[in-house]
Amino acid sequence: MIKLESVIVREEKKPAGATGIAPVLACREYIFVGISGLFLLLSWAGRVKEVIGFDPAWFTIIVCGLPIIRGAFAGLFLKWDDKAGLLVSIALIAAAATGEYFAAGEVAWIMALGELLENRTVAKTRQGIRNLAGLVPRTAWLDDGGRLVEVPAGEVKAGDVIVVKPGENIPVDGVVISGRSAVNEAALTGESMPVDKMPGSQVFTGTANLFGALKIRSVRAGEDTALAGVIRLVDQVERQKSPAVRAADRWASRLVPAVLSIALLVYLVTGDLVRAVTILVVFCPCALVLATPTAVMAAVGNAAGKGILIKSGDAIESAGRVDLVVFDKTGTLTGGKPEVTEVRGFSGASEEEVLCFAAAAEKYSEHPLAKAIVAEAYGRGLEVDDPDNFTALPGAGVRALFKGAAILVGDRKAVIEQGIVMSEEQESYRQLQEQEGKTTVFLVVGQQLIGAIAMADSVKSGVDAAVGELQRLGIREVWLLTGDNEKAAGAVAEKMGIAHYLAGQKPEDKMSVVLKLKEKGRRVAMVGDGINDAAALAAADVGMVMGAGANDLVAGAGNVVLFSDDPGRVPRLIELGKRTLKVINQGIFLSILINTGAVVLASLGFIGPVAGALVHNAGSVFVVASAGRLLFYRLK
Ligand code: ADP
Ligand code: MG
Repeated sequence: MIKLESVIVREEKKPAGATGIAPVLACREYIFVGISGLFLLLSWAGRVKEVIGFDPAWFTIIVCGLPIIRGAFAGLFLKWDDKAGLLVSIALIAAAATGEYFAAGEVAWIMALGELLENRTVAKTRQGIRNLAGLVPRTAWLDDGGRLVEVPAGEVKAGDVIVVKPGENIPVDGVVISGRSAVNEAALTGESMPVDKMPGSQVFTGTANLFGALKIRSVRAGEDTALAGVIRLVDQVERQKSPAVRAADRWASRLVPAVLSIALLVYLVTGDLVRAVTILVVFCPCALVLATPTAVMAAVGNAAGKGILIKSGDAIESAGRVDLVVFDKTGTLTGGKPEVTEVRGFSGASEEEVLCFAAAAEKYSEHPLAKAIVAEAYGRGLEVDDPDNFTALPGAGVRALFKGAAILVGDRKAVIEQGIVMSEEQESYRQLQEQEGKTTVFLVVGQQLIGAIAMADSVKSGVDAAVGELQRLGIREVWLLTGDNEKAAGAVAEKMGIAHYLAGQKPEDKMSVVLKLKEKGRRVAMVGDGINDAAALAAADVGMVMGAGANDLVAGAGNVVLFSDDPGRVPRLIELGKRTLKVINQGIFLSILINTGAVVLASLGFIGPVAGALVHNAGSVFVVASAGRLLFYRLK
């Protein structure tokens, strides 16, 4: 898996952080910051400067300070986006110019320390992902016409048949064609219970095959697998500025002229240059700038270890503001593992014929109902041939070309849209099934409806608890939007205590419901698993994609991916979001309070640059430490 490794190597090189300090610090940052701190201590100790002839704080100023100044000036001339850095630079230069070397070194050092802590948080986030990449086995057993050949895992392509022996990790995403085993998927989903696999089951790259041998047809290999998708997603976790960071920046940009004029005014009134410099030093918005990125990264890191992938800083903040949650039904609230309960042939078609045609058409569909049909065919010992052509109709069914015939497998609406009139027998069969809470799909070959397949799906355990949790967290409304029929939707909604539901929702309907709710001022989280949810996921304030099996399109539409199928992750994430907002706000409030207080004291001449820098640093340390708590915040 050469390409996967290249992703990992790229991660090692950390780009410049949000505060714009120094790529110089990137690798040996600990040593730099440690030594700089030591020199600062030496400066504090006093005697040393007389012996060596210059103040040791110069070392700190140069090592930690120069990169800040460089970054600030680059920001000034290139895009005017680093106001905090600019203020820090002015304070640094002013302090150094007036001989307050210790104060200058201290300001530079605390900024470097903040950057270091921030990097640690980022690194911790990525560690979990690196562990994931290590799960991909190096080789695979390719089934070459009955002969097993060991090949590098990277050479397996979609469509290849491979064998995974007991105790080996699975090298591709695919479907089991023979064999039975239990697979531990904890690495991907956080679920420690092994999952039983049999013909028709989906398996994922990097999961551990426990005791049986599995023959697998590869569906996605190499860069296309769910695992590679995860790694890519994390790679993209943009350092792009989140709204709260921008807010801090706005504050900082207002502070620059204010602080400069206060300092100037104090100098003009008192004629005391040291006092003016002290003001510059204490008002550096270091804590303010650190508050948000550290809190966000800590929250993202915490979630990543629990199978919740947050793709951007915005997402965790938005999650904290959510007041309405919309759930998809099939695959999200229901187990997503429906089972075929009955196959019915019309106009003389046999059950086997119906199943053979339907399974061939559904073979490449990712939909839970499709998987159920294919699994049923395998379970009855039938061969499932490849369709010649296949198109998904999200929220309606699939179309395929098979043995020269145009095939449609889909719900009642799709059948009627095709211009087919359903007979009384067929209609009453469907109604009967629906009354039992089952979902029926029809098989149309050419223009003839020749079969129906009834399926039952059970609601996941923990859905009602999750809905209760959401209410406890102050989520006022929970909605259910499904493409399935009214009866099935109503039954699930009632059982789970969900007050609002809409059935028969096409993908674009789901999106427009989400948009309408947003227009009413609601902060909407959408939770879904399928292609039919992609538009709604993208439209919502927070799009949560459920399940490790979600394909790239769906995963790309949301901004959070929940690798476990457990609905309990939804309230957990919202809780973490609320917590994060709280920590950010506390940090911002505290830093503004400390800075303002210190400026007043400095203006009145009560504190000098050294004491000022100390007060001011205490704020930064507190803010970063407070954000660090989020890393260890226990999501139940
Ligand atoms: P949900 O919105 O609850 O996730 P979907 O929109 O995925 O449900 O599906 C809605 C309905 O569309 C299903 O109940 C089924 O009748 C039909 N359907 C969707 N995809 C398929 C498929 N691959 N094969 C057969 N029927 C399908
Ligand atoms: Mg769904």
